[in-house]
Amino acid sequence: DADLSTVDPEVAEAVSAELHRQQATLEMIASENFAPVGVLEAQGSVLTNKYAEGYPGKRYYGGCEHVDVVENLAIERAKQLFGAEHANVQPHSGAQANAAAMVALLEPGDTILGLDLAHGGHLTHGMRLNFSGKLYNVVAYHVDGATGRIDMAEVERLAAEHKPKLIIAGWSAYPRQLDFAEFRRIADSVGAKLMVDMAHFAGLVAAGLHPNPVPHADVVTTTTHKTLGGPRGGIVLSRAEYAKKINSAVFPGQQGGPLEHVIAGKAVALRIAAGEEFRERQQRVLDGAKTLAARLSHPDCASAGIRVLTGGTDVHLVLVDLVESSLDGRQAEDRLHSIGITVNRNAVPFDPRPPMVTSGLRIGTPALATRGFTADDFAEVADIIALALRSDFDDATKRDLASRVELLAKKHPLYASRTR
Ligand code: PLP
Repeated sequence: DADLSTVDPEVAEAVSAELHRQQATLEMIASENFAPVGVLEAQGSVLTNKYAEGYPGKRYYGGCEHVDVVENLAIERAKQLFGAEHANVQPHSGAQANAAAMVALLEPGDTILGLDLAHGGHLTHGMRLNFSGKLYNVVAYHVDGATGRIDMAEVERLAAEHKPKLIIAGWSAYPRQLDFAEFRRIADSVGAKLMVDMAHFAGLVAAGLHPNPVPHADVVTTTTHKTLGGPRGGIVLSRAEYAKKINSAVFPGQQGGPLEHVIAGKAVALRIAAGEEFRERQQRVLDGAKTLAARLSHPDCASAGIRVLTGGTDVHLVLVDLVESSLDGRQAEDRLHSIGITVNRNAVPFDPRPPMVTSGLRIGTPALATRGFTADDFAEVADIIALALRSDFDDATKRDLASRVELLAKKHPLYASRTR
């Protein structure tokens, strides 16, 4: 029964160092969050030992009576939280949820219409090197160059021209809500199915602070580790008519044994997401992002060539446009890293710089909201980021901003009773 530090001190040390990094810095990668201790506990449980191919009540292995309870809880909670007729909680990740949904709805060679990766879409929405780009005939829609918002007239035109079997609505880097009813109308006009990938904004939907795509879409996919704040993983929600096809596309179509320890973590996260505290937290996520967008739109930022894409945000992230700035995306990411703030550089639509450099930053508020950041704390973070990105940044500013970051991190302890 040797514990981790005895059986493998090297791994134990790296895990402890990662805990320290999470505690000492401000995590603002928009797709990240801090799973509650209850979720970590479920994921670190003996459920990891269990094979359970199949579905609750219809397994190909014996001894599944307890994992059946866990998986049924996750299924029922997912259906209830999002108002869905069917839920499959087995996908190991968001990418696998999307792969299963597409296998269920499409034949290889069918045409799909999704948001271009360079304009905020995800790899699984048709990127050339991804399974989606290899298996399907991909047509991409874009954002409008002037407004930064999805060009719905282009979606309609491309749909009419290419008659896709599937339209995908969803994004990894886009600061506004989607018009699900309009996507539905366009899909119906050409006989296409509609899939919404709500991986990024599922937590906001759960809290009732973002429109719910479930009533509009044939299938809705999500991750469970972004705004939803659970373990890394995926879920497919659908209308009852697709239940059989979705289940068989996940298992045996895409996966073998489900990760029941992760499914237990999903069940815990879904229970938490149904509560009032979670709703209040998501409100802070949204308010914090709006505060950040407003601060980065201030004249002192504008004069440093910093722009906020679409002029603001309706969700948990802000996209910063550095096309006119002397800093590129990589330099800006490094600069924030140097004062203890973690973000990721991100291509902006029509980006003139190469993908490894980019001209943008994606900055998200979910992890800090989970950490307990208040409106005042978000105003302080926003000011720190604005000052860090300005052209008068120097060593003295760096020391000052790093100590302001340290104060915020100390004010909101994270995983205080854990050592790893
Ligand atoms: N869908 C969207 C919109 C995403 O942003 C992501 C992750 O970044 C995924 C799917 C894939 O999730 P995972 O990384 O769990 O495969």
